[in-house]
Amino acid sequence: MYRWGNSRRFHSYTDAMRERYGSRIQKISVNAGFSCPNRDGTVGVGGCTFCDNAAFSPSYCHPEMSITDQINKGLAFVRRRYPRAALFVAYLQSFSNTWAPLDKLKDIYSEALAHPDISGMVIGTRPDCVDSEKLDYIASLAKDHYIKVEYGLESCYDATLKRINRGHDYKDSVKAIGMTAERGITTGAHLVFGLPGESRSQMLDQVHKINRLPIHTIKFHQLQIVKGTPMEREYAENPGDFKLFDLDEYVDFVTGFIARLRPDIAIERFAGEVPPAFNVGKRWEGVRSDRLIALVEKRLEQKQLHQGIFYL
Ligand code: SF4
Repeated sequence: MYRWGNSRRFHSYTDAMRERYGSRIQKISVNAGFSCPNRDGTVGVGGCTFCDNAAFSPSYCHPEMSITDQINKGLAFVRRRYPRAALFVAYLQSFSNTWAPLDKLKDIYSEALAHPDISGMVIGTRPDCVDSEKLDYIASLAKDHYIKVEYGLESCYDATLKRINRGHDYKDSVKAIGMTAERGITTGAHLVFGLPGESRSQMLDQVHKINRLPIHTIKFHQLQIVKGTPMEREYAENPGDFKLFDLDEYVDFVTGFIARLRPDIAIERFAGEVPPAFNVGKRWEGVRSDRLIALVEKRLEQKQLHQGIFYL
């Protein structure tokens, strides 16, 4: 039995939610038609070099449909796939879902939360797309609903953020996360492993910065090269600058990261694959999340590690 109250060697977000709410929480993706300051000209126009939101969005998400219609479609899809799912939250995933005036955010968020089958909301956004007013409003929603704000950090290194044309720096991430967590909002972060110019030890060293953030959850992704993105061209020119992990090598890396990760941070995801039609880099041939979790657990056991064993 570990500190998070079960026999898993890492603090699983799915398990923590199940224990808290008595059921797995199933996310229903919604595309509310937001853009992002790194695409609309506010901080840039080309976007992050790896970005193609189409590669990450479920087929039932179309911004021309109302939020309610998207939720209904998503619920029908998810209920067929996971018949035992009982708790659903709207997942505002595409682009930057706090990037609009507060009144517009209120319209969108309240339509999602008014759906009778929706118990909460996960809001994905960039660290430079929040302010006190927006976060105060989100905190007010969090009094009666499960609300999580999830920030794409991608890297803790400014040199990397510059190279991938992220349009914000790590200081912005620290500030946004602090402002969110201090309002009592569940706060998540997202990191990508393998970004250009980062050595394996630099990737691993980020854990110490992550440990200092007041986050509650984290998601990891291995870098993938998505067709048609600026990164595809950069990769073709300088493949040696990138680290595209083999599956086994990634499991090894990620277990090292987990061993140093603060024990109270719940891990929501270890990796994810874009559909093969979009992926021009290394493929793991459809390794599903449950298989990946099993591989990580097994490797932790083989190495006699668990989350936070080397946390200082
Ligand atoms: S990854 Fe997110 S922040 Fe970057 S361009 Fe795409 S939508 Fe914008």
